[in-house]
Amino acid sequence: MADKEKLGNFTPENAPEYEDVLQCMRCGFCLPTCPTFALTGRERSSPRGRVSLARAVAEGKLEFTEAVKEEAFFCLDCRACTTACPSGVRAGEVMEICRSQAHQFFPLKHVSKSFREFVLQKMLPNPDLLETSMLPARLYQKLGIQWLVRHSQLLKLGPEWVDKAERMIPELHPPLRPQLADVIPAEGEQRGRVAFFLGCIMTLMYPEVSRQTVRVLTHQGFEVVTPKEQKCCGAPHLTEGDRDTTKLIAQHNLDLFMALDVDAIVTDCAGCGAALKEYEELLEEAGEHDKLATFRAKIKDVSEFLAEQGLRTEGLKPVKKIVTYHEPCHLCHAQGISKQPRELIKAIPGIVYREMEEASWCCGSAATFSLKYTTESQQILNRKLENIRATGAELLVTANPGCHLQLAWGLKQAGMIQEVVHITELLGIATG
Ligand code: SF4
Ligand code: SF4
Repeated sequence: MADKEKLGNFTPENAPEYEDVLQCMRCGFCLPTCPTFALTGRERSSPRGRVSLARAVAEGKLEFTEAVKEEAFFCLDCRACTTACPSGVRAGEVMEICRSQAHQFFPLKHVSKSFREFVLQKMLPNPDLLETSMLPARLYQKLGIQWLVRHSQLLKLGPEWVDKAERMIPELHPPLRPQLADVIPAEGEQRGRVAFFLGCIMTLMYPEVSRQTVRVLTHQGFEVVTPKEQKCCGAPHLTEGDRDTTKLIAQHNLDLFMALDVDAIVTDCAGCGAALKEYEELLEEAGEHDKLATFRAKIKDVSEFLAEQGLRTEGLKPVKKIVTYHEPCHLCHAQGISKQPRELIKAIPGIVYREMEEASWCCGSAATFSLKYTTESQQILNRKLENIRATGAELLVTANPGCHLQLAWGLKQAGMIQEVVHITELLGIATG
């Protein structure tokens, strides 16, 4: 998928490849896997329907209409349809590209446009600015303003998404990136040297998770290098249809990490891992094919990496808990990593593991979907909560900050007792 000459009614800039919309043979195998089709029963909100819309635009039979734009943004990009599709159709990625088209056909107006450009082009690619921007939010929580605002019901007066976003944010702590040493030595006999890719949401919302990731890696015998100049992976830009900024960021991260002498580049964020693995395709027009292929091979989700290397279980303390696992879409569908997290969980002594129904069904988070489509997101979340409840688990393990935020919020709203932990937090508990 790349910038090419004009394809039907798409603009030439950031258009889908014709082959990607042509592959669909309309078999319908994808339909039962699609959360938005399950919610609406509407063909155009299914993978098959979305690909048909894109194909009609590509063949000049349909203008890029509001309906195409709506379906591009209503798609969760969960990639469940890609897992199910016998033809390898990637409806989620086609819709991701259509979001870029949507911004060309329906440009935002003034303030919204400036705000979007500031966030995507200035703030997210600049870790110092991004981290500084969270200071008011930390003060808001620490100084008791949050308590006042919540008890005044002030947030109920604004749009629903503002109230939801405010309630979803966990207790904030100083970001982890500036605190981490550039190089942290392995404990005991060294098994290797890895670079750590620290995602934006992780460093800002869940610094303790990433602290545990580094701790587990060093405890497992790996020296951890964290280059501080790393930028956002670009996933939020793809979600919002800003492919040009994604390419700039991707090139920066590619050059930075490929200059390091490391065996692997490890991340604990499923969304970041998926985005980093897709740099190869995103940057293919720039050449550097060998470099991109090597980079792609080095990117590892932490559970993928530890399962590949073999978890050292000697010395792990028993964790006497009933545990279930929610699969982040960008881990199981986008990266094909499904069995490894379960293997790691089951390797911890004392754990009683209970598989949940539909573990790989989206939780309804999907980046900004949960804020843009609050009702639909809640309906998808309710289905997930029922499946969690049925397991009787005490701990819910996951591996992506978006899922973590959505599930923790949903469980709290529903008055359920399960605590959400990242897989490295669980390993951290067992590490002692
Ligand atoms: S997207 Fe794939 S699974 Fe769905 S109808 Fe087309 S070919 Fe079949
Ligand atoms: S990516 Fe998810 S929401 Fe989008 S079409 Fe595929 S299954 Fe449906």
